[in-house]
Amino acid sequence: MNIPQSNLPRIIIIGGGFGGIALAKKLAKKDVQVVLLDKHNYHNFQPLLYQVSTGGLEPDSIAYPIRKVLQGYPNFYFRLAEVVQIDIENRRIHTNIGPIHYDYLVVATGSETNFFGNKNIEEKAMAMKTIPQSLNLRSLILENFEQALLTDDLHERDALMNFVIVGGGPTGVELAGALAEIKKGILPKDYPDLDTRRAQINLVQGGNRILPAMSEIASQKAEKFLEKLGVNVWKNIRVTDYDGNFITTNTDTTFEAATLVWAAGVKAVSIKGLDAKELLSRGNRLVVNEFNQVLGHNEIFAIGDVAHMETEAFPNGHPMMAQPAIQQGQNLGVNLIRLLENKPMKPFTYKDKGSMATVGRNKAVADLKRFKFQGVFAWFVWMFVHLFFLIGFRNRVVVFINWVYNYIRFDREARLIIRPFKKRYRDSQPT
Ligand SMILES: Cc1cc2nc3c(=O)[nH]c(=O)nc-3n(C[C@H](O)[C@H](O)[C@H](O)COP(=O)(O)OP(=O)(O)OC[C@H]3O[C@@H](n4cnc5c(N)ncnc54)[C@H](O)[C@@H]3O)c2cc1C
Repeated sequence: MNIPQSNLPRIIIIGGGFGGIALAKKLAKKDVQVVLLDKHNYHNFQPLLYQVSTGGLEPDSIAYPIRKVLQGYPNFYFRLAEVVQIDIENRRIHTNIGPIHYDYLVVATGSETNFFGNKNIEEKAMAMKTIPQSLNLRSLILENFEQALLTDDLHERDALMNFVIVGGGPTGVELAGALAEIKKGILPKDYPDLDTRRAQINLVQGGNRILPAMSEIASQKAEKFLEKLGVNVWKNIRVTDYDGNFITTNTDTTFEAATLVWAAGVKAVSIKGLDAKELLSRGNRLVVNEFNQVLGHNEIFAIGDVAHMETEAFPNGHPMMAQPAIQQGQNLGVNLIRLLENKPMKPFTYKDKGSMATVGRNKAVADLKRFKFQGVFAWFVWMFVHLFFLIGFRNRVVVFINWVYNYIRFDREARLIIRPFKKRYRDSQPT
């Protein structure tokens, strides 16, 4: 990897996401050698992926070069590498660009879509966890309308304009709201020769309310907002299978849709060598103590989505959200230095700043620590918070300008099929 040997202890961070970057920033200018590895050369601001999928933002505005974050930090090295195995015994990790030795290892690999073992759904459904996946979804949505224009078969046309989103968490709610706005504001103008009123947006939730991690009032309001936008909200229904066209559920309800977006769950990204059953909890998360140390391995830490820290307040681990990842990264930065100075480490305490979800124009729900509110004010707070946490001044400016433009013009001009996604409605039809 061409990383110089030094007398400084070497800390390897796997993952330049919210947790990895927060940790790296804390270690800047400390007497350690830091090697940050990521399979992408950019940090991905996942909360705004749905806006990329729906043409509201260009992908570049929610990505930020990891090398730029580290600019000016002495003893910092970034390598574009995918870690494939951890050799705990020899304190070595193996990557697609070669092996490297560590003194301390921090796993911050985040999470990936969980299809719960359903291979058909995994193969045929769309996920939205990365920028390439969001671009695929953007292309597919637009390709479906282009194809719907070409067919005389009403049945096929309806299926092409039928969107089923599985999972009523913030991702599903936000995506459903954005699609409904496209249906209302953009499709009739873009496709005047297509009856786009027949387009359907369905949000399917396994439980009895959407946004289950938020307050009852937030769930109810979000559902009302969605219904006002024309989204069909289906509750207490679990999707069980999808062949690329027909969707079956655990009830009599079925759907015929060329697009199924799976936003129904995530699992931690585990790495070979650190994936023994006794190290993992539900959702493949690595069990860690209050210092984010992986059980039984004092020199290995895990932070963010990949870490399962059981506390009294969070018996099932912290929520898989940006704030726990950032706060754990920051706390671990302090602790690693304390560890090297032979000082006792500080246990992690999560400061819950609340949660929010936006449903559409002027419509959001917010559960903050002291206040719960919904509507226009929540929407402005949501925008401000997202702009604040977005990395990079340019990105903030670009996103802000895009939002103002989209708001004034009722538009989303990034509805472009730059890289066609090859999924054809007819592919899944019996021949
Ligand atoms: C669509 C969507 C919307 C979301 N909305 C919100 C929201 O509104 N608010 C909120 O708080 N949270 C939201 N989240 C969740 C939030 O993004 C995650 O909780 C957060 O990103 C976790 O941070 P992390 O550092 O643990 O992992 P990540 O930010 O996912 O970073 C992990 C990094 O590890 C890298 N990596 C993984 N495996 C390897 C490997 N083997 N080798 C090298 N590199 C590797 C990845 O490339 C990535 O850069 C959303 C997530 C999604 C998908």
